[in-house]
Amino acid sequence: MDQTHCPDNPYLLLTPGPLSTSKTVKAAMLRDWCTWDTDYNAIVTDLRERLAAMASPQPGYTATLMQGSGTFCVEACVGTLIPEDGGLLVLANGAYGARIATIARVLRIPVVEEDFGEVNPVDPDRVAALLSAHPALTHVAVVHCETTTGMLNPIQAIGAAVKAAGKTYLVDAMSSFGGIPIDMADIGADALVSSANKCIQGVPGFGFVLARRDVLTGCAGRARSLSLDLYAQWRAMEEGGGKWRFTSPTHVVRAFAQAMDELAAEGGVAARFARYASNQQRLVAGMADLGFDTLLPRPLQSPIITSFRSPTHPDYAFKPFYERLKAKGFVIYPGKVTTADTFRIGNIGEVSPADIERLLSAVAESMYWKA
Ligand SMILES: *Cc1c(COP(=O)(O)O)cnc(C)c1O
Repeated sequence: MDQTHCPDNPYLLLTPGPLSTSKTVKAAMLRDWCTWDTDYNAIVTDLRERLAAMASPQPGYTATLMQGSGTFCVEACVGTLIPEDGGLLVLANGAYGARIATIARVLRIPVVEEDFGEVNPVDPDRVAALLSAHPALTHVAVVHCETTTGMLNPIQAIGAAVKAAGKTYLVDAMSSFGGIPIDMADIGADALVSSANKCIQGVPGFGFVLARRDVLTGCAGRARSLSLDLYAQWRAMEEGGGKWRFTSPTHVVRAFAQAMDELAAEGGVAARFARYASNQQRLVAGMADLGFDTLLPRPLQSPIITSFRSPTHPDYAFKPFYERLKAKGFVIYPGKVTTADTFRIGNIGEVSPADIERLLSAVAESMYWKA
């Protein structure tokens, strides 16, 4: 588990993807696969089935893999699912929510962006009023774990409000799927997006959309892009037995299959959630002992990534702190909130409780650059 013992890995990534992957996930890429050969396509089909089973124990969900980073999948989803006469309500409280609204604007889809502010969760009680004020909107999108702050949004209560209004519900669960138990049927999600290099702990190169089969079937010819046509990609994978339309990231897919095996071996999503949650709790407690406050109160924090307020001590500056931590084997993340000076520490990936203890000692030795 200790990545720093590997000479090729001088530091552990405490970042929200790409993240530290196991040696065996990386080793899975040491062979070449033909993109259309049946051996490879069988791996893709198996992955699609395993992902659909992870989406919900209920039947009726289907997985589509798509080349590119996570944003490509969000764009494929927004650009393919919303009809020409439809519109999107985005419930935003950070950069990733705002990005969904930007995607809609670029695609010339009517969008209403409701901004709840970076330090407040999305309020499900406002959804009904927003939708009755904008009756032409057909779809609602929200981010589950807003990686900007680490905020966890109440996707189940939001889903209930969206479904009560009869709208289609899209969830960006990029940084949470595989690390936090989610049942799409329970939350009423019609489509949910995640990617290879977040909680499933693969390497970057593709993302995936989990969707209700009956929602996807009606979307032929709707896409506003050729390569990001989610419907066409789904049909190709269904009819071609795991074929991708264009060159697929074969090595990345093989590494992802290994990562899915390792998730199952760890005990599945519940066990991974337990590891992330206990590491995050220990991190926050240890950082508090060193005088670091979190941006968000405890109940709003996710086990994925945590925003800490930068110390106001005159001997603290982010850059030297970052460099000193990196030299000690840990890469952290700059802050992304606009209203406060923060930095972030992620704990998704191949990170053990012992890594967190070593990190806390390294923080204690690195926080004041003049010391
Ligand atoms: C990582 C992430 C994305 C996708 O980002 P990419 O850089 O395109 O992979 C989208 N939404 C959330 C919440 C994320 O954490």
